[in-house]
Amino acid sequence: MDLDKTIARYDGWVSRDHIGEPLPGAREFLQTLVDQGWYIIIFSARAEEAQDCEVIKKWVRDWFPFIPESQQVEVTNVKLREFECFVDDRAIPFYGDYHEALVYLNQYILDHPKLQEVIK
Ligand SMILES: [Mg+2]
Repeated sequence: MDLDKTIARYDGWVSRDHIGEPLPGAREFLQTLVDQGWYIIIFSARAEEAQDCEVIKKWVRDWFPFIPESQQVEVTNVKLREFECFVDDRAIPFYGDYHEALVYLNQYILDHPKLQEVIK
């Protein structure tokens, strides 16, 4: 599970200790995943050092206390073998069809005007 812009509001970098409030619906979404038995791992570029991971873990525990004690909040910036899928605001889905992936990618570019300047 990505953090910024997926379950946390992000309006630009503030500091390593600042994470925005949960996005509307994030709580219900995560509750549903927990109810379905998913094991949630936070995958974030923020998680560079142990201190960063602790900040994120505290944020998750504070805002989503329903995540069971048995499920320790894991935080990483490494793509782990255990990952079954990603929920990420930057993800382009790929299900074996490159044309379809390009459609999603082109829509993503349209939705992110700043990106259009970067890839020119
Ligand atoms: Mg994100």
